[in-house]
Amino acid sequence: DPHPAVRVASEADIAQWWHRPGPDDDKYTRGVVGVAAGSEQYPGAAVLSTSGALAGPAGYVRYAGSAGDFVRRGHPEVVCTATVKEAGRVQAWLAGPGLGTDEAALGELRSVLDSPAPAVLDADALTLIGEYPSVLAQRDAPVILTPHDREYERLYGSPPSEDRGAAAAGLAKRLNCTVLLKGHHTVVASSDGVVWANPTGRPQLATAGSGDVLAGFMASLLASGMDAVRAAVAAAYLHGRAGGIAGRNHRTITASDVARALPGAVGDVL
Ligand code: AMP
Ligand code: MG
Repeated sequence: DPHPAVRVASEADIAQWWHRPGPDDDKYTRGVVGVAAGSEQYPGAAVLSTSGALAGPAGYVRYAGSAGDFVRRGHPEVVCTATVKEAGRVQAWLAGPGLGTDEAALGELRSVLDSPAPAVLDADALTLIGEYPSVLAQRDAPVILTPHDREYERLYGSPPSEDRGAAAAGLAKRLNCTVLLKGHHTVVASSDGVVWANPTGRPQLATAGSGDVLAGFMASLLASGMDAVRAAVAAAYLHGRAGGIAGRNHRTITASDVARALPGAVGDVL
């Protein structure tokens, strides 16, 4: 049984947290999200994480990295630069999917963490943080870490305990970040020990690139002004619902299917 203090998000929570644009909004006030992902080896991660970001509430998606040609072809809406510094100011960053773990990747991660914007760190960014924990030091703006079990083990030194909420909370406290621990029972923990269990999702979401879509979508929620814990909880909830829409009748789904289903999942909840 889950710990009594564990909360479970409802449709009503997500609808209340979601920032709806008003008549005075423009694409900048809705939030600019930056995506630092992909590499020559993994350009697809850049395309998938920007597709997640495009499905969220932010008004503008910027991509920084070496897969700009792929991103532009897949998503003409996205403005591409080669580096994080060239991208300029954004309201939230995603760093990590397919980024690689070489010196260039570490430099881009440092640039993201030097900026005052909140950030989602996933995949290769988590590997880099495991190797260079000091890059997180002196960071004031909120950070969400989104490990699956093996990424958690790399960061924490041991696999998540059976109590996944406690496992996420332990890492969140140690690194002073919000932690979303992915898997069949996805949980979110804040650094001060508040734990949320995600009630949506299905095993078909375990497909390559699925986490990249989730992370991009989450960064868009952050860019729209949602706080870190709510952005993590809402992203996991809606990603799970999108998996349900895409995989109705037990159909096989791809990460691209999940990204395409996200706006429908949002529409169903709002
Ligand atoms: P990643 O490992 O980064 O590609 O992310 C995988 C995504 O699929 C996350 O959103 C996980 O929560 C989800 N996922 C993985 N395995 C399962 C499972 N057995 N049941 C439900 N969701 C899963
Ligand atoms: Mg992943």
